[in-house]
Amino acid sequence: MDTKKGILFDIQRFSVHDGTGIRTNVFFKGCPLRCDWCSNPESQDLRPQPLYDAKKCIGCGGCVQRCPSGAISTENGYSIDTQKCFACAELPCAAGCYASALTIAGQSYTVEDIIRIVKRDAVFDGASSGGVTISGGEAMVQIDFLEALLKACKEQEIDTAIETCSACGWDSIRRTLPYTDTYLCDVKHTDPEKLWRETGGRAEHLLENIRRLAENGAYIVARAPQIPGFNTEDRESEDIGRFLVSCGIQRVEVLNFHKLGVPKYTKCFLGRTPKDREPLEPEALERKLEIFRGLGLVAEIG
Ligand code: SF4
Ligand code: SF4
Repeated sequence: MDTKKGILFDIQRFSVHDGTGIRTNVFFKGCPLRCDWCSNPESQDLRPQPLYDAKKCIGCGGCVQRCPSGAISTENGYSIDTQKCFACAELPCAAGCYASALTIAGQSYTVEDIIRIVKRDAVFDGASSGGVTISGGEAMVQIDFLEALLKACKEQEIDTAIETCSACGWDSIRRTLPYTDTYLCDVKHTDPEKLWRETGGRAEHLLENIRRLAENGAYIVARAPQIPGFNTEDRESEDIGRFLVSCGIQRVEVLNFHKLGVPKYTKCFLGRTPKDREPLEPEALERKLEIFRGLGLVAEIG
């Protein structure tokens, strides 16, 4: 089997939200976008990184001593300077923390490692028409590993899905086409200026990739995350819906905003916190479904 290694920050078994049936979700590290509402901020940097849990810290200072770059300080409260942290080998700061207050987001896996984990669940996944969903981060960032993993899944007759924001070169997407059963494509906005300002993504590039995917016969389920203050106006949903219809995409899942990722911003020492937002009320979500269905799309809450 292929010996390439990829950096993952999580593997979740028995998921029922990201594709058909019961699935094993594999979360890749690395993303070119910086969405303010990202629920997995530890996914953005491709490198492994320490995560700090203040509730568990016993203040021994061992991590300060072990850090070769002086990135950790306990003066004026605990802090990690992410500019100084160079993700050194084995992350001694976390590896030596007996209180488990520092953990590592980002472990190296081979294709074989992942296939072994997935096959443990195959009896459940296969019986439910499930399989593997590659998520992130943006998995296309690690395209060599992604391609090798997808290929190995198909050799084992495992169903494959990729969750993608499509912020990557077309050539990366093209390489996944022979081995991917379903693309779960995020469509955050169609307005170039707004998308650029809030995520750092170029709408014309992202949307063009989705259009090309559709033209190449990929099975696409679109995802429309609902982010208050960014894309929840009716006309914004209508624009997204019209774009999907123009591509020949038939299914869209409406994803409500949630706050589960907010505490992680502090744990990662990113130096920023997401804007304060509240999830949409059920009636507002229903309204989005109506808009998409009114355009002829099959729409459901994801
Ligand atoms: S080694 Fe762990 S317990 Fe000790 S100061 Fe660092 S984070 Fe806290
Ligand atoms: S990963 Fe290495 S450089 Fe970064 S904080 Fe930990 S010990 Fe310091």
